[in-house]
Amino acid sequence: MNLILLFADDFTAPNIVRLQGRRLRHMSEVQQPAIGDRLRVGLLDGRVGSGTLLTLDDQAAELQVELEREPPPRLPLRLILALPRPKMLKRTLQTVATLGVDELWLINAYRVDKSYWSTPLLAPEAIREQLILGLEQAGDTRLPEIQLRKRFKPFVEDELPALCAGRRALVAHPYDAQPCPAAENTPSVLAVGPEGGFIRYEVDKLIEAGMQPIHLGPRILRVETAVPVLLSRLFPI
Ligand code: SAM
Repeated sequence: MNLILLFADDFTAPNIVRLQGRRLRHMSEVQQPAIGDRLRVGLLDGRVGSGTLLTLDDQAAELQVELEREPPPRLPLRLILALPRPKMLKRTLQTVATLGVDELWLINAYRVDKSYWSTPLLAPEAIREQLILGLEQAGDTRLPEIQLRKRFKPFVEDELPALCAGRRALVAHPYDAQPCPAAENTPSVLAVGPEGGFIRYEVDKLIEAGMQPIHLGPRILRVETAVPVLLSRLFPI
């Protein structure tokens, strides 16, 4: 946790917060600050700054906070990801928040196992929990927007063309593709396939919607590796 994320209901006065639960445990067990120490804090969807420790016991910690800076800039990216298996989803949600992705669209594809759609990890609170861990890692405060689309064809036909319009729009696909373009801080859409890859029909539909296939070379990467590698190649992170 490189930043303690604060929520509106932590405030007991305009610049005083009272923390309990996971954040208190992290402070007591990992950070072990002394009274008067300054810790990095940030308000969810707001500014970042420091919190001076006023009191700390096994019930709660109180900090006086100053939120004077904007959080790090976001990546202007709509990431479209075929729903991965739950274990990988958990890590990918954290990575997406850590890297500052603006929007994550979790979609169905032929090689997405149907059972993945019933994981409790897709409950809004469970998604939010993973995203918050990712934000705390990065020192960011802004949650990515998450969208779920359980049907591939209506999504690519009815929604994707408008999502791609006016943006650099790419599908990561190891075959019949151009090399990954140079990094550019430009509004983009990127589709990443499931563990078994997109089938030919799906790649054709993504191309029809305005996406260009790109590859990262001959090594096939796991989804959780492909996402950070693609983002660091496509954006000047
Ligand atoms: N067996 C699958 C195949 O051959 O397509 C591998 C899929 S890979 C584990 C999952 C996704 O990561 C792919 O659908 C693609 O979006 C992305 N990916 C992995 N390695 C890649 C590479 N070398 N170039 C482009 N995309 C890659």
